[in-house]
Amino acid sequence: MNKLSTSVYDAEPIPAQALQEVERLLSSGDLFRYTAPEDDPSPVVRLEEEFAEFIGARYALALNSCSSAIFLSLRSLGIKPGDKVLIPAFTFAAVPSAVVHAGAQPILVEVGDNYRIDMEDFAAKLTDHVAAVVISHMRGHTSDMDAIMALCEARGVPVVEDAAHSLGTTWNGCNIGTIGKVGCFSFQSYKLVNGGEGGILITDDEDVIARAVIMSGAYEHNWRKHRLPSNAFAKYQNALPLYNLRMNNLSAAIIRPQLAEIPRRVRDGRANHDYVAASLRASPHIEVPAPLPREERAPDSIQFNLVDFTADEARRLMALSAAKGTPISVFGLHQDNARAFWNWQFIGNIPNLPKTRAMLMKACDMRLPARLRKPELDIIIDGVLSSVAEVKGA
Ligand SMILES: *Cc1c(COP(=O)(O)O)cnc(C)c1O
Repeated sequence: MNKLSTSVYDAEPIPAQALQEVERLLSSGDLFRYTAPEDDPSPVVRLEEEFAEFIGARYALALNSCSSAIFLSLRSLGIKPGDKVLIPAFTFAAVPSAVVHAGAQPILVEVGDNYRIDMEDFAAKLTDHVAAVVISHMRGHTSDMDAIMALCEARGVPVVEDAAHSLGTTWNGCNIGTIGKVGCFSFQSYKLVNGGEGGILITDDEDVIARAVIMSGAYEHNWRKHRLPSNAFAKYQNALPLYNLRMNNLSAAIIRPQLAEIPRRVRDGRANHDYVAASLRASPHIEVPAPLPREERAPDSIQFNLVDFTADEARRLMALSAAKGTPISVFGLHQDNARAFWNWQFIGNIPNLPKTRAMLMKACDMRLPARLRKPELDIIIDGVLSSVAEVKGA
């Protein structure tokens, strides 16, 4: 049987234009976002302007990570120590961590077999004690944003969208991240745009952006260099802590030329995903949940559920597929997985969440980067289907 010649964790090359800009920055030593004058904006400011335009938001703030963006969103919305923040029980550990970092208590909401928020549990937990909601569009799977926004707007609860891994996904034709009050994206290497590390926060709210810019580390009057049409900066001068979560010019130089690559990566990633999904659906032992009707994903991975597998059978599948070079990870069986809520011991008492637990024990995760071509996808499909057949019989 053929093996993949590359790892699914390998990145694609950074566009060549980045090199020229990185050389310019290295030869001048100009790496800090606030060295350049207001009328000759730094690469970080240019990235913020380009990203805001691309995504359709009034304001953008580039940061050192998406975790920092979620933390600053909560602090900018005025979340105080002891406040309760709803988050999905299926997300990356960075999300409850950002809530805890802001001094708040995460309340976990059940997630169903289709990786989306269980709206009944969400409505039940959205009480008067909840100060904010963070929605993670896990791997681009978008929860019912119409229902979530209607419930939250009725109670005046702000929504932060964690779109870390959902850049390019749309809901009702709108970019994910532009629906809630604040949207957060990641440029960590496993996401659609690879800056090594990095994140960006977007909002249309002039108070949120002023507070976020200052707290990100715009000390003294450096907020002027953001060139943002917000009247709120002066009001928060010296009133807020400075956490220093800024992005540096080198990261911006690497990220900026990749913005033009997003439409291609979205198109190819979606085609790859749909090709593999159609082949896997042919197996009676695999279920690939359908998207919600208003959602268009930009996948760089595929998730599917094992049907009628015991835990031992699922473990055998993980071992067999790994030996074939096409490793399948079952979220809940992979030891210390950062997306399994029972491993988030830092939040205090771990609640009992039977629906999310059942999903995590059968949900598989496989990377499917946009750069893969049909022969490679066929190897992946063959690796999965032959491993399933070996475990369950043909
Ligand atoms: C990657 C990721 C994050 C964290 O992003 P960083 O930039 O690494 O801090 C948060 N949420 C989700 C859903 C992610 O996939």
